[in-house]
Amino acid sequence: MKKSYDVAVFHGDGIGPEIMAPTLEILHQLSRGSPSYELVFTDAPAGAGHYAKTGESFPAGSLETARNADAILLSAMGLPDVRYPDGTEISPQIDLRKQLGLFAGVRPVKVSSRQMTPLALPPGKEIDFVLIRESTEGLFFTQGAGEVTEHEARETLLITREVSEKLFRFAFELAQNRKRTGRGRGRVTCVDKANVFRAFAFFRSMFDAEAANHPELQADHAYVDATALWMVQKPWEFDVLVTENMFGDILSDLGAGLMGGLGLAPSADIGLNHAVFQPCHGSAPDIAGQAIANPFAMILSAAMMLEWLGLTHDHPELSNDGARLREAVEKVTANGQNLTRDLGGTTGTQDAASSVLEALRA
Ligand code: NAD
Repeated sequence: MKKSYDVAVFHGDGIGPEIMAPTLEILHQLSRGSPSYELVFTDAPAGAGHYAKTGESFPAGSLETARNADAILLSAMGLPDVRYPDGTEISPQIDLRKQLGLFAGVRPVKVSSRQMTPLALPPGKEIDFVLIRESTEGLFFTQGAGEVTEHEARETLLITREVSEKLFRFAFELAQNRKRTGRGRGRVTCVDKANVFRAFAFFRSMFDAEAANHPELQADHAYVDATALWMVQKPWEFDVLVTENMFGDILSDLGAGLMGGLGLAPSADIGLNHAVFQPCHGSAPDIAGQAIANPFAMILSAAMMLEWLGLTHDHPELSNDGARLREAVEKVTANGQNLTRDLGGTTGTQDAASSVLEALRA
C-alpha cells in the first residue's frame, strides 16, 4: 500500500500560478509512478489576487489546510499594486512563518562546474553550500512596528535562547545529513558580528554550546562582512552557514547571484512541525502572463520538499526522488539548452519544465 502525504498548495500571484502548474504536473507524474508513496494536493487560496477579489488575503481555512498538511508548497505571492489600506503588501508567506514557527530559512546555493555563473570557477571547483537564515526574529522582530518620530527611528534586534538553540540544532543536523549523503564536509559556520554587538556574542555562545555536542563536525565562526567577501572569493569552501534574519536576507540574494539569478534559487522555511517550500523570487509582475517565467526555482523547491518529507518520515524513495528531481534540473541547466530568458535562453516556461521531465525519465 502506498503511503499518502498531504501537500497544501498556494498558487501565488503574478507568475506564481504559471510556475506552479508545471511543477505540480512533475510531482503528479512522480507520485503516479511511485510504488511506495502518493502525493495528495489541496489548494489553499490566499494572496494579493485573492485579496483583490474577496477582501481577504489569507482565509482561516487556508491556514488550517496548511497546518494540517504534511508539507506546504508555495509559489511567489504579492503584487506591488495590491495593498492593505496602511500601504503594506499582502504577504501570506510571511504570516505563515510566524503562525507555524518556521525559524529556519534554508537557502541552498549550488553551482556545478558546467553551469553559468558570474564567477570564474577554478577548474574542478563547484559551489554547494546551504545558508540557514533565522526567520522569525533578529532585526525583523519589530517588522511593521518600529518607532518613527520626526527626529529618529528605532527597530529592535531580538535574539532568543529558545529560537537560537533550535536553529543551531537544525544547522548541525543538516550538516550531519549532508556529510552522510556525501554532499558536504561536515562544516558549520556561524555568521555574526560578535566583535561589535553583545547580541551576536550571545548568539555565538549558543552556537558554540551546540557545536560541543557534535565533535564529528567542524564548527567555526565568520563575521558577516568577511562572509560576503568570501562568498565571492572562495564560495566552494563553505558547507553550512547559519545566521541572523537580516544578515541571512542579504546573503541569500548574494547566493542567488552566484547561481546566475533568482530563477534558480529555491528555499524552504522549516520549523519543528511544519515546512514551507517556495522559490526565493517574487511574483515578477513585469513578465506575468507571457509564459516566459523560469520554473526551475519552483521545481527545485518541490525537490527540496520531497527530500525533506523523505528524511522526516524515514521514506528513502521520497528522498531519492527529490534528489533525482534536483539533479534533473541541474542537468538541464548545465546542458545550456532549454533555458528561459533570465538565464540567457529563449525557451518558455512549459518547455523548460518539460525538459526537466525528460531529464528525469532519462
Ligand atoms: P521579483 O523577484 O518578483 O522580480 C525581480 C526581477 O526578477 C524581475 O525583473 C523579474 O522579472 C525577475 N524574475 C523573478 N522571478 C523570475 C522567474 N522565475 N523567471 C524569470 N524572471 C524572474 O521581485 P520584485 O519585482 O521586487 O517583487 C514583485 C512582487 O513579488 C512584489 O509584490 C513583492 O512583494 C513580491 N515578492 C514575493 C516574494 C515571495 O512570495 N516569497 C518574494 C519577493 C517578492
